[in-house]
Amino acid sequence: MSLLGPVEIRSLAEKLDLRPTKKLGQNFVIDGGTVRRIVRTAGLDPSDVVIEVGPGLGSLTLALLPEAARVVAVEIDPVLAGQLPETVAARAPELAGRLDVVNADALRVAAADLPGPPPTALVANLPYNVAVPVVLHLLATLPGLRKGLVMVQAEVADRLAARPGSRVYGVPSVKAAWYAEVRRAGPVGRSVFWPVPNVDSGLVALARREPPATTASRQEVFAVVDAAFAQRRKTLRAALAGWAGSPAAAERALRAAEVDPANRGERLTVEDFARVAEHRPLAE
Ligand code: SAM
Repeated sequence: MSLLGPVEIRSLAEKLDLRPTKKLGQNFVIDGGTVRRIVRTAGLDPSDVVIEVGPGLGSLTLALLPEAARVVAVEIDPVLAGQLPETVAARAPELAGRLDVVNADALRVAAADLPGPPPTALVANLPYNVAVPVVLHLLATLPGLRKGLVMVQAEVADRLAARPGSRVYGVPSVKAAWYAEVRRAGPVGRSVFWPVPNVDSGLVALARREPPATTASRQEVFAVVDAAFAQRRKTLRAALAGWAGSPAAAERALRAAEVDPANRGERLTVEDFARVAEHRPLAE
């Protein structure tokens, strides 16, 4: 089976009268080497059920199908979603039975919307403007997801994989760490896309881990994270004043959680945030 190159992408785009939009982050991969690298780095088992978000014209889908038991592709654009089964039937007819295409917004998709067995791996060249919420939503919604390999804007890759103390450590880093071990898995240049984007890209690998052991719920922990980074230059004592009721209440909660109130959110691990959440004062 041959992958889609620049000529095939152009002719599909012409056939569909496709005008790639920035709004939907439509930059299609025209380079077989990049697609193969993504699939290789994903480390799929033949039993894996892959969820691919934004299959577009099918560049990555065609490379995923031989390596997985099934691929469920979630595409928001009805024209692209309609074309994909045809492309696969034409180029890889023997693998077409492994593919399900769901025409939906990945930000809203629920487990029940996906046909077949629950996905075990997320592999995608994500729409860049919604990459972080898509990753967080799918990790929350699909507990069977064990691993992932996603292509995102380079800065987003850095943020997702950042460790405490890093300049770019923030809400996406902490929330992703709740669900998974996250690491950067290599840079990607601009010339592998059509149209050529004006940002660099990077690969991010995710490996599901147990969330921190805590009596606080995920929502409670994420509320502290949001509050801490809403004013990231402030000390936690100040940044969490609203969350706790007052600066003094924030200080008490932080001390009870063994976190220095003079610290900033960018120094705390997800486990630290979970301990702080456990000590939120009861509303009067
Ligand atoms: N995977 C293809 C490739 O590598 O050539 C296309 C990747 S392109 C960066 C992103 C794709 O995501 C587009 O096909 C776009 O229509 C789709 N998309 C954008 N927003 C989406 C959303 N919220 N849910 C599902 N698909 C979306």
